[in-house]
Amino acid sequence: MYDVIVIGAGVSGLLSALVLSKNGKKVLVLEKEREVGGICQSYKIDGYTIDNGPHIITRLENGPLRKLITQYFDVSPDFIYHGEYYVRDKDKLYSFPWSLKSFSTFSLIPRKDRAFLLQILVSTYGRRLIGENFSNISVHDLLKKRNLNKTTMRFADTLCYFMTGVDSKKASVARFLDSLDYKSKSKGIISVHGVDPQAYLSKLIKMLTKKGAEDQGYPKGGIRTIIDCMVQSLDAEIITEEGVKEILIENNRVIGVKSQNGVYKGKTVIYSGYASELPDIADLPENYKEELRRLEKVHTLTLWMGLKRKYFDKMGSEIWIEPRCWAVPVSNYDPDLAPKGRQLVGFGFILPKEYNLEEEKKKAFDGIKKIFPGIEKDVDFMYWQVLVPEKAAWSINQKMPGNVTPVSGLYLVGTDTTEKSMGITRASYSVLNLMKEIL
Ligand SMILES: Cc1cc2nc3c(=O)[nH]c(=O)nc-3n(C[C@H](O)[C@H](O)[C@H](O)COP(=O)(O)OP(=O)(O)OC[C@H]3O[C@@H](n4cnc5c(N)ncnc54)[C@H](O)[C@@H]3O)c2cc1C
Repeated sequence: MYDVIVIGAGVSGLLSALVLSKNGKKVLVLEKEREVGGICQSYKIDGYTIDNGPHIITRLENGPLRKLITQYFDVSPDFIYHGEYYVRDKDKLYSFPWSLKSFSTFSLIPRKDRAFLLQILVSTYGRRLIGENFSNISVHDLLKKRNLNKTTMRFADTLCYFMTGVDSKKASVARFLDSLDYKSKSKGIISVHGVDPQAYLSKLIKMLTKKGAEDQGYPKGGIRTIIDCMVQSLDAEIITEEGVKEILIENNRVIGVKSQNGVYKGKTVIYSGYASELPDIADLPENYKEELRRLEKVHTLTLWMGLKRKYFDKMGSEIWIEPRCWAVPVSNYDPDLAPKGRQLVGFGFILPKEYNLEEEKKKAFDGIKKIFPGIEKDVDFMYWQVLVPEKAAWSINQKMPGNVTPVSGLYLVGTDTTEKSMGITRASYSVLNLMKEIL
């Protein structure tokens, strides 16, 4: 009999197991694959160390992952400062406008549009402050009346794709207010509809002066190093190649799980796979099953390219608006990821809902060649990946289910449970939220 059985050994499952085992619980982790880590894998091919998609970790100073590292990790991963984000339009590079001040001079966008966007940003924060809910309002709806320039709309769309997984017609405005909520709620002195106005104002002032993504970093050695540190720090039983086929429930209470090899009894079960697939292995109320099945995954195409000469000189990554792409020269952070004298770059593209893979690959490669004519002559290595970076897009009319299920003792964790931040930071938030329910 275990206190807790965790299904899935990705970052969410392992972090949950770590916190619970450090709190004295007897924990079992069951993972269907041969390796633990879920998406977070790094592997060596032809002398290059590639990750499952390029990873930059956000909110490293005092965000949720930092909290968990400080409190629970015996061994800490090393992070290398990310540097600037650049926006590329053809052969022109612009520094990403992090502050209102730098946005006012961000010349990718015409002056008239900049003025309008600034105005709408400040007024939206104000409306949020007095309690207006923006989760069902799309970015497109907010912007559409103003007849914005094509490049402005393309820039807005690109940001939406990379921050939510969907275009501006489906992306929720709430996503862009997320960090503001995070800061303001954390103080909770005076609250207006759950928001602390003092903290809100201080965040607005910070926005005016913010220098850039100062608390973001690349994990030295690759994304897998974070998983290795977790595994070294936790005291739980982990069984791999043990897929859970059924969650056992009696009188609406979880009693354990059944895998292909047998039954494991536990008082609490935490499921960290796709929430949309939980109905396949658990008998749940119909309306809850429907809610879970509605969650839409985001698919991305990554091209890893090893280059014979340096195409990216700057420390930082590039957001391209045509083709829509995130280019991360990871060997600039850690030269050991590529053979000597080579540069390793991860190019990330969002895939549409329906796609033809070969066509998407061609489009992606042609797009890169358009930006860097003749690059194909310098290609030393190419590797493609199709992956799911977020288990659920953050779109309007889609509600994340949270951690608690209608079955007593059965919980969810992972990037499809909470609407906060993205990727590993979002997974860490979901673990912290879960612990408030369990501990
Ligand atoms: C291309 C790409 C780029 C990314 N870039 C970033 C980035 O820059 N910054 C960032 O923070 N994040 C990034 N991410 C996202 C980040 O990697 C994921 O959000 C995170 O790893 C998800 O962790 P998870 O534990 O929630 O899910 P997963 O990693 O999917 O883990 C779930 C685990 O559960 C297992 N499982 C499922 N069902 C069962 C079952 N029935 N029985 C047993 N085991 C089961 C699965 O095998 C898997 O191992 C990126 C991801 C991709 C793909």
